[in-house]
Amino acid sequence: AKDAGRNAIQLFRTTMQQAASARLQLESELRLALQRNEFELYLQPQVDARSARVIGAEVLLRWHHPVDGVRSPAQFIDVLEESGLIVEVGNWVIREACRIAASLLVDGVVDSDSFSLCVNISPRQFRQSDFVERVLEALKAVSLPHAMIKLEITEGIVIQNLDDTIAKMRRLCRQGVSFAMDDFGTGYSSLTYLKRLPVDVLKIDQSFVRDALDDPNDAEIIRAIVAMARSLRLEVIAEGVEQQAQLELLQAQGCHLYQGYLFSRPIPPADFGELLKTHSLS
Ligand code: C2E
Ligand code: CA
Ligand code: CA
Ligand code: CA
Repeated sequence: AKDAGRNAIQLFRTTMQQAASARLQLESELRLALQRNEFELYLQPQVDARSARVIGAEVLLRWHHPVDGVRSPAQFIDVLEESGLIVEVGNWVIREACRIAASLLVDGVVDSDSFSLCVNISPRQFRQSDFVERVLEALKAVSLPHAMIKLEITEGIVIQNLDDTIAKMRRLCRQGVSFAMDDFGTGYSSLTYLKRLPVDVLKIDQSFVRDALDDPNDAEIIRAIVAMARSLRLEVIAEGVEQQAQLELLQAQGCHLYQGYLFSRPIPPADFGELLKTHSLS
């Protein structure tokens, strides 16, 4: 029995060491990926169900791995965040998103007053002391109308330092940049801070949408979020809409903006431009 215990501990150690070295390995691969420009951005359309118009898109990071092909951020975003690489990658994402928005504008497939690109911002990235300047520089570099960029933040950003968060958000808002609260309902959503934050949009987390048809509790949470958004005069977007029945449930609750495979998966910017051409924007 003593041996078995010792073996178990040994196995545990080995497993932990393997996990740690896999992580280090991934971190150095990510560093190389950054140098080699292997990151790409995909766009997922956001649609107004009433008019069937595309009102914007979420910008989603992809890693074009030389061997494994396209990798999704679920496989590496934590390592980017913990290693601090997210700061450099995130700043690149903002610059690249601005460049893509500017080229959609030049191509005439979007209007600057009725279309925005939503960019995910990580906690560590947001905490950079010059975060606000970075965003403004990226907009300026391509002369992009500021309203075309919306920053998606999470409750995790907010609770770390409420006063600093509000100060940075206000500075950007004064410059016309707007904010969406991502994954809403999964964190420490509190009406108190929601009222204090300059956000324009709540994004209903996809976990609620996924289960809403089967679980009355999830449907009820959606109803509550929509009611809260209405009373605070915020827009509300549902994520992860895959089925017509989910869309109908959302619409019945008063949520008309959505994003999900039902309309389109995230796609490369060139395909997105094509998609907009076939969906007349007039
Ligand atoms: P998120 O911000 O909640 O993004 C939505 C995720 O849901 C995306 O996964 C998107 O591809 C996926 N999705 C969209 N529609 C559907 C649907 O109908 N069904 C299902 N099952 N999934 C759907 P993705 O692209 O793998 O990104 C995962 C997460 O990685 C994002 O979650 C976000 O937290 C993070 N992320 C992505 N890009 C960036 C980035 O540029 N910067 C930062 N900091 N985080 C990013
Ligand atoms: Ca997001
Ligand atoms: Ca989300
Ligand atoms: Ca998420």
